[in-house]
Amino acid sequence: MEISQQVCPYCGSSDLVFSEDEQGRCFLGCDQCGARGPGAPSQQEASLQPGFGSESLLRTVIDESPDIIMLKDWDGHFLICNRALARLYGSTPEEMVGKTDADYNPDAEQVRFYRENIQTVMRGGELEIVEETSTDASTGEVRYFQSIKKPLKGPDGSDRILIIAHDVTELRCAYQLIEEKEKRYAYAMEAAGEGIWDWDIRNNRVRHNPKWCELLGLDDKLLMHDMTVLANLIHPDDRNSMMTAVQHALDGAGEYTHEHRMLCNDGREIWVYDRGRVVEYSGSGEPVRMVGSISDVTMRKEVEQRLAETNRIIEASNEQLERQVAERTAELASLNRELQQLARKDALTGIGNRFQLQDWLVGQTLDSTTALVMMDIDHFKHVNDQYGHKCGDQVLKAVAKCLSGHVRQGDLVARIGGEEFLLVLGGISLPQAIAVAEQLRSKIEELVVLPDGLGVTASFGVTMVAAEGFDQAWSIADTALYQAKREGRNRVVASIPG
Ligand code: GH3
Ligand code: MG
Ligand code: MG
Repeated sequence: MEISQQVCPYCGSSDLVFSEDEQGRCFLGCDQCGARGPGAPSQQEASLQPGFGSESLLRTVIDESPDIIMLKDWDGHFLICNRALARLYGSTPEEMVGKTDADYNPDAEQVRFYRENIQTVMRGGELEIVEETSTDASTGEVRYFQSIKKPLKGPDGSDRILIIAHDVTELRCAYQLIEEKEKRYAYAMEAAGEGIWDWDIRNNRVRHNPKWCELLGLDDKLLMHDMTVLANLIHPDDRNSMMTAVQHALDGAGEYTHEHRMLCNDGREIWVYDRGRVVEYSGSGEPVRMVGSISDVTMRKEVEQRLAETNRIIEASNEQLERQVAERTAELASLNRELQQLARKDALTGIGNRFQLQDWLVGQTLDSTTALVMMDIDHFKHVNDQYGHKCGDQVLKAVAKCLSGHVRQGDLVARIGGEEFLLVLGGISLPQAIAVAEQLRSKIEELVVLPDGLGVTASFGVTMVAAEGFDQAWSIADTALYQAKREGRNRVVASIPG
């Protein structure tokens, strides 16, 4: 801009600072309005530096402001511009004076908008605040501004406009980021298959997604409500344990899981699996936000309950079955014992048989003081033939009773064959054993067991158990018995082993 007059071209003041150059005088600055001309040194020399008059102070304020400040004329010429604007346009405040946006901004459309906009505001004569963009000349980056546009009149009455533009690019980006996050959050809340809750702890407000409302049969417009509303939806029997779990999370655990019943709007009760986590803490470490979700696990719970019920029934019937089995087993064991007893007893005479003899021998220590006595009823076949089988049985019973009635406790009497009996007598000598056999023989002879008042006789073979053992002794006693038979029956024959 050419400075020909001696007064400031912007405010008309004559308090100007000039400097001589090759072309003549050069306008450096105006002390009144703070306008600066081309060629003003960035560091003014001491001699040229204006005092701290209100104008220079204003100039400093304008230059140091982080906001863009400019004064333009009707055609958009910069009359004053500060460093913030100069930085954006890659220039200096001094060089920009007299220039327009078109000299710096490659975006012709934007430039046209600026000019028309300021002319509209100047025409209206009222202060306006507009949102607009500007392109950084060096980086090409588009920045956002909130601009205050104040129409003014120059000393000559010409239209001017003061523009103070505040860079809101960062703020806008932050808002955009928040908006996007909110959108994403809202989308996630909408799309989630689970009922989500978001608890603003300080304000005690809970926000939900539509699914949460759907699960509980609530109007899905009621997405935000007081915490007490939520607490009242929890089944009274489960409320305390649920609140304890939440408190535990707030007290430091940070998260919880809990299963409880919730009361639906339509009177239904549902089981939910609830998970919650503190997602935000205050500067002092207090939890301020907790987010969680609930899923309907009613079906699973019902199945579990049915399963538990079935298990109880199965366990009860198992117990009953076990009891029955135990009872039956005890019965069987007792029957078995009886059976074993029976198996060891001769059914006809009630005395022991061969099996009992075998069992009895297992627990015995047989030595040289043990005697074996074999006995056989004489001509028993004849008894059967003569008096009948039944009568023969009666004879067998009577003989068995006689034998077992005349031995000592601890001695054994067993029926080992049809009409054959074996006696094992302990703690006895051979002569004593022979005497016992003799006694028995005589007792049997005395028995009146036949219908015509007659009796039966029996033959005896006696021996002692020696070192050779029981089987050997039995064989010897048998031989002695046969000898007794041969010698005429109704007698006792003893034989010593070896
Ligand atoms: P011996 O004097 O030589 O011993 O002659 P015995 O007739 O006694 O001997 P034998 O071996 O010829 O006959 C035994 C008979 O005993 C034959 C059988 O029918 C009979 N007997 C075996 N067991 C029973 C039984 O349980 N009841 C009855 N009534 N008779 C039986
Ligand atoms: Mg016989
Ligand atoms: Mg016989």
